Amino acid sequence: MKITNVEALYLRLPEVNDRADGTQDTLIVRVHTDAGIVGIGEVDSSPLVAKAIIEAPMSHFIAQGLAECVIGEDPLEIERLWEKMYRGSIFFGRGGAAQQAISGIDIALWDIAGKVYEQPVYKLLGGAFQKRLRPYASILFGDTPEETYEIGQHWIDAGFTAVKFGWGPLGQSEASDIAHIAAARQGVGDGADFMIDAGLAYDVATAIRRAHQFAEYRPFWFEEALHPDDYHGYTKFAANSPIRIAAGEQDVTLEGFERLLDCGLDVLQPDVARVGGLTNMRRIGQTVARRRKLCVNHSYKTGVSIAASLHMLAALPNSSWFEYCVEQSALRQTLTRQRFPVVDGFVHVPEEPGLGVELDESVVERFLVR
Ligand SMILES: [Mg+2]
Repeated sequence: MKITNVEALYLRLPEVNDRADGTQDTLIVRVHTDAGIVGIGEVDSSPLVAKAIIEAPMSHFIAQGLAECVIGEDPLEIERLWEKMYRGSIFFGRGGAAQQAISGIDIALWDIAGKVYEQPVYKLLGGAFQKRLRPYASILFGDTPEETYEIGQHWIDAGFTAVKFGWGPLGQSEASDIAHIAAARQGVGDGADFMIDAGLAYDVATAIRRAHQFAEYRPFWFEEALHPDDYHGYTKFAANSPIRIAAGEQDVTLEGFERLLDCGLDVLQPDVARVGGLTNMRRIGQTVARRRKLCVNHSYKTGVSIAASLHMLAALPNSSWFEYCVEQSALRQTLTRQRFPVVDGFVHVPEEPGLGVELDESVVERFLVR
């Protein structure tokens, strides 16, 4: 079997604004084979940047477009093709958007392999340690504490047992920050969990101060409080925080995650659509597991990356939480025919061959930017 074509489909809602909502656009990758089997993947990046990295013609042997690296190759040789893409893009890659773009092709290759072997991807990754994960509704803070309260209450009423609030107003003032966190706890109620995603709002001194101020409201973790390059800050923060520290969604390499582990973080959050797909997320997840830390997916795109994340976390020994994006955009809610319902507070890993997702072609047509 050979790869015959790689399509990079740029999908975008008619209206896109600057709120931290990654479901407003996306890049879907389809890898075609001469056996007629098509694999689907997704990239979380700036979609047109990643599309260019996939489609670029060769400049020289370590400056190649990713599609050229894999066309004509056997799609089942996933590890080798990952290295071929990584080496082929060394000149402009070694992280960043190139690594994010590799994700789309790599996820599609795993989807192809599952369809060829007629097995769900989690089995090819080594098997399921768990077939259901505990989703937290992942949503942005309200603009006011009253809105944050209502958001928390709404998603608990919708069947979730935890809610993560992100970005938006955090960092405006001490009083406002504490009011939002108090409202978040009140909104979800005493019996549920909630997490805080600070969205890079603080310096290390403020982050330590906030962690102590927030502790009485019992957040399960405190995410991305610092700039992602502030590794020294994270070391100091982790040593001085009374609550769990989470980060990692801006890191895309195994080396980046090893560095965060060395900082003493408690929760590591690789995104399968950013870190180079399932091949590299497995390396990262297994490293996190060996260090006895918690690996949780970052995922804020469509059903394609939700499915890939479910297969991956199922196959890691120490994962239980699942970031479940509840944004209501049409791309998030309708691009795949599968909707991943939350049943009794859990989301289940697909059992169909491959990723177990199909694109709704009418949704692709509606949002495709040509
Ligand atoms: Mg986050």
